[in-house]
Amino acid sequence: MAAILFKNALLITMNPGREVRRGDLLVREDRIVEIGQSIFSEKSDRTIDASRWLILPGFIQTHIHLCQALFRNQAEDLPLLDWLRRRIWPFEAAHDAASMRASTKLGIAELLAGGTTTILDMGSVHHYDVVFDELEKWGMRAVGGKCMIDTGAGVPLGLLEKTAGSLQESRQLYKTWHGAANGRLRYAFAPRFSLSCTEPLLREVGAMARDLGCMIHTHAAETAAEEEILLQEKKYRSIDFFREMGIAGSHCCFAHGVQVNANEITSLAQDRTAITHCPGSNAKLASGIAPILKMRQAGVLLGIGADGAACNNHLDIFSEMRLAGLLQKSQHGATALQAQAIVEMATIEGARCLNWDAEIGSLEIGKKADLTAINLDAPHAQPLNRENIYAQIVYAAKSSDVRLTMVDGRICYESGEIGNMDIKATLAAAEIEWQKLLHRAQITG
Ligand SMILES: [Zn+2]
Repeated sequence: MAAILFKNALLITMNPGREVRRGDLLVREDRIVEIGQSIFSEKSDRTIDASRWLILPGFIQTHIHLCQALFRNQAEDLPLLDWLRRRIWPFEAAHDAASMRASTKLGIAELLAGGTTTILDMGSVHHYDVVFDELEKWGMRAVGGKCMIDTGAGVPLGLLEKTAGSLQESRQLYKTWHGAANGRLRYAFAPRFSLSCTEPLLREVGAMARDLGCMIHTHAAETAAEEEILLQEKKYRSIDFFREMGIAGSHCCFAHGVQVNANEITSLAQDRTAITHCPGSNAKLASGIAPILKMRQAGVLLGIGADGAACNNHLDIFSEMRLAGLLQKSQHGATALQAQAIVEMATIEGARCLNWDAEIGSLEIGKKADLTAINLDAPHAQPLNRENIYAQIVYAAKSSDVRLTMVDGRICYESGEIGNMDIKATLAAAEIEWQKLLHRAQITG
């Protein structure tokens, strides 16, 4: 890795002052080492003319399933529990290492090409080593973990684990991968959701995560049906249930939070438990619209993510940001949830959800060189409004405008190329592995 100088970019820093400035940015090794005017080209091995680019901190999506990229377009017009039981779980149960690799690669390629540099990923039950292996190879930053399932109606045998085995495999993955790749990869315990985990499993996850100092990522308060079943079975709704199990606090990030009530919003804020907003997934599965405005006003830490390609059907941060704004505005009026807040969720607030904001989430000297460059030379991008550049990013920019994505000082995507990945071969492998997986999968109706 060498020194790379970006000349004359419009820098959306997301620093504490939310400074937007035209200037140069110098990267050396894995860090941003200088931001300023007229930095000499002699300091770099490569100088890039960025005068027609916006440069932002790399986008952070705090809820992704790389394992489901292969199920894109294959589970349509179903509500969540049917979608899971009739399609996604049988597909996941049919994954082998080769299909997991094809799925992961497809997802990573899409994410990097669309400007996402960091994800919080929930895996399937098996083959999570493969996911980390591909993340390491293509340079993405990630917190991730195998999902844990040790009970639940409609769970295929191939996914149903013994409690002790699930914990042991998670711990083993933690040992192998937590802090790997120059600290770029971190482990998260990932119980699937409240209805698919026993109390002993969840209590042990709560204790182990505190012990080992790693994150817990799960789905919570996604649908009304889930809350109802849990209330009948456990006398709790999901947020309270998880807290009762010892799963709450600043090391926890829950996807969705669609169904949270006023009390739960208060307790999430008090506990510093983060919520990931997944507007595309929530709308498509008709789970509802998360009360983002209320959560934000109450001080709940919020990230944003596309969820999986099986319910979205892409992993595009731009369409998630746009939808987040449109949905809140259509509910609460045109002044609700301004674009800056949405870009914050996709950068510095996302970093905070992952407890990684000391190193990523903004363009600041000394921070990791994770950044995304967006081209402005397009009819849909002009004219620019410097006064509200965030609206430009949320409502006008498209993922196809991304020209370059850098993670840890390494250019992972540039002008259509993902490092040395053979994109054609990646797509062909995805098609073949999907057909093989479909053949193995036991789909009934
Ligand atoms: Zn999900």
